[in-house]
Amino acid sequence: MSALETTTPRPQTDAAAVVGDLRRTFDSGVTKPLGWRVRQLTAFKRMLIERGDEFERALAADLAKSPTEAQISEIGLIVGEIDYTLRRLRSWLRPRRVPVSVAFAPASAKVVREPLGVVLVIGPWNYPVMLSLVPVVGALAAGNTVLLKPSELAPTSSRLMAELLPQYLDPAAVRVVEGGVEETTELLAERFDHIFFTGNGRVGRIVARAAAEHLTPVTLELGGKSPAFVDDGVDLAVAARRIAWGKFLNAGQTCVAPDYVLATPKTASALIPHLESAIAELYGSEPRESRDYARIVNEHNVDRLSELLDGTTPAIGGGVERAAKYIAPTVLNGVDPDSPIMADEIFGPLLPIVHVSGVSEAIRFITARDKPLALYVFSRNRSVERRFLRETSSGAVGLGIPAAHLLVPGLPFGGVGPSGNGQYHGKYSIDTFSHHKAVLSKPINPDTLRLIYPPHGQLRDLL
Ligand code: NAD
Repeated sequence: MSALETTTPRPQTDAAAVVGDLRRTFDSGVTKPLGWRVRQLTAFKRMLIERGDEFERALAADLAKSPTEAQISEIGLIVGEIDYTLRRLRSWLRPRRVPVSVAFAPASAKVVREPLGVVLVIGPWNYPVMLSLVPVVGALAAGNTVLLKPSELAPTSSRLMAELLPQYLDPAAVRVVEGGVEETTELLAERFDHIFFTGNGRVGRIVARAAAEHLTPVTLELGGKSPAFVDDGVDLAVAARRIAWGKFLNAGQTCVAPDYVLATPKTASALIPHLESAIAELYGSEPRESRDYARIVNEHNVDRLSELLDGTTPAIGGGVERAAKYIAPTVLNGVDPDSPIMADEIFGPLLPIVHVSGVSEAIRFITARDKPLALYVFSRNRSVERRFLRETSSGAVGLGIPAAHLLVPGLPFGGVGPSGNGQYHGKYSIDTFSHHKAVLSKPINPDTLRLIYPPHGQLRDLL
């Protein structure tokens, strides 16, 4: 029976027993050799290719993602991460020599990466496969054992990962525990060597508090309101197409989607018809008929988003069909910065445009708020781009392109301040899931350290 047809209830899991098993595996040393890590990553890739159609079906069931979008933004992205890592892992793991002061000569110093132990990965529902499995790739590549807790709000993807991971990966080193708040709370009572959490800041605080109990380091991949500044004079047709793509991908349920646009009133008015054409180009005149337009994850979120539209007059879209979990790509112009839609991360296909007088006011608007996960600047003026780079802080910056920085494995992915801490992807994952051990080595003879031993009379004479 395939995971998609499975209806049997989830087996009860004893969190302590699962973590205990993973710790015994780690302590046995089996995960440390490069060969084991390479075998895991190779099998990981084979799983994604051999079972790709099951992942596509799961993502369609959970979020109405089209097979192409599932490949580009989830499955293919994990395969790309594995290929990138496999090609470089040996060199990343090489000890790094560092210079030693002459006071210690002869001596040598190096930084050695060692795995941390048992890693807990907690995944969200919006890219339920990619955001669960890319951290697992990094944790395994760094030589750890892993417990994955996918999101219960993407149940088909969660079930599929629980079924497939133990078939392809070392089942003694990788375990999947399914469930929601109750199960995650049980897991968080255990001691892990690292916790990697993707989700919202409220739950991030719960995770960080639980981790503090065991002094466990955490990576928090959170969200927030990522602004897009559209400058006067930029090619609005291109800017609109790119913003519409980044915003309406996965029906706006993307952590790095542009949350809102900042523009002068004149540019905002000129942008609207371009956004309208861009939406029609991407999803046709009836986005609800488009196979490429996703649905909202559940009715609770449809209600939350539809409340944000109450009392507004959308410039584009605005349609809500609760039963179908459909919300049309929607744009609101001239939005009051104090209105409810500007209070929290939108996480849906609603794009407010807030008017500013120009670059300086846009920068002030951004710096007066929480540091965002990403910031996008659409300008043909290099000095405007430089001002945003210098005068604002965000997890990432996209100059002329939203969201796609997460597709570049050489770039660190993560937030800053309220949008998260720590980063991953490629080498940054190895750094995150490793301890950087300092090793200083000095031959026993000759004992040149005599110079720094007390009594210090001799040394004082030299200084
Ligand atoms: P969420 O925080 O509700 O859930 C994430 C995970 O935490 C799930 O596995 C869930 O089971 C668990 N969880 C929920 N409540 C819990 C509790 N009280 N105690 C313990 N565990 C709990 O997040 P979500 O709704 O799945 O995802 C949406 C949020 O995640 C948005 O804010 C979005 O911006 C953010 N996000 C960030 C990134 C990133 O890479 N920075 C990526 C995707 C989503």
